[in-house]
Amino acid sequence: MKVVIVTRTEGIGKYQELTSEEIVSAIARHGIIKEDNGKLVKHLMDNKHWSPLDMINFGFEIETSRNIGRQLLRHWSIKPQEHSQRYSSKVAFEPIELRMEHPTNRQSSTDVFDPNIKVSWLPNLAPHASTVLEDLLSKIEEAYFAMLEAGAAKECARDILPGCTRTTLTMNGSLRSWLAFLNVRMDKHTQKEAVMIATEIGEALELEMPKVFSTINWRTGMFM
Ligand SMILES: Cc1cc2nc3c(=O)[nH]c(=O)nc-3n(C[C@H](O)[C@H](O)[C@H](O)COP(=O)(O)OP(=O)(O)OC[C@H]3O[C@@H](n4cnc5c(N)ncnc54)[C@H](O)[C@@H]3O)c2cc1C
Repeated sequence: MKVVIVTRTEGIGKYQELTSEEIVSAIARHGIIKEDNGKLVKHLMDNKHWSPLDMINFGFEIETSRNIGRQLLRHWSIKPQEHSQRYSSKVAFEPIELRMEHPTNRQSSTDVFDPNIKVSWLPNLAPHASTVLEDLLSKIEEAYFAMLEAGAAKECARDILPGCTRTTLTMNGSLRSWLAFLNVRMDKHTQKEAVMIATEIGEALELEMPKVFSTINWRTGMFM
């Protein structure tokens, strides 16, 4: 998993020297540029006056698994560009952390599975969960490249690649959209791997907009 901030909206003309948070405040005040401590944006959020928060954008390059990528892509207000597996045959897998099923929440997990625990499934493969996974992934990779070598198109051969296959996404969203993203993806109901991505995005945005972020409990999720 890797998250890098790659773009931000810059001001020109009378907004030229302004920081991201100053641009939002100036737009909210219809061009009047004043010092503020970040509380104006919080006030706009509390009053559901979203439009000034849609005036500036940030872009992130995100490396993750295709399964987590699918979750990110559901945020339709954040515009994506994804590396194409129809075009490139580069294959890598994100590490799989096996966790135990949550006792009450059917879509969630708890503690990390003992990687050396004996498993009875797939008995022909190695007996430990971690080696079973390693074996499976290397066999899949082998079969994928064998198909390409035999002349199969990448768009067909990729159908055997698993959900942990690495993908690279560039995602561009307004401040409002990223806040809405953090609102749900920092929440305890979100999958751990997606929370890790959201944390990196939140920390990068906090560096860009320290005053605004000091007024928001973004790390807890469900703050707006
Ligand atoms: C824990 C979890 C489990 C999920 N499980 C499933 C599942 O089982 N099946 C499934 O199909 N999908 C699931 N989803 C996806 C979910 O239903 C949404 O599709 C996804 O979170 C994208 O949200 P969105 O449509 O609000 O898009 P976004 O792009 O995040 O938001 C759309 C617009 O609404 C605005 N907005 C969003 N929230 C707010 C807010 N609170 N206040 C003001 N403006 C707001 C944004 O700024 C943006 O302009 C799950 C999501 C989560 C977090």
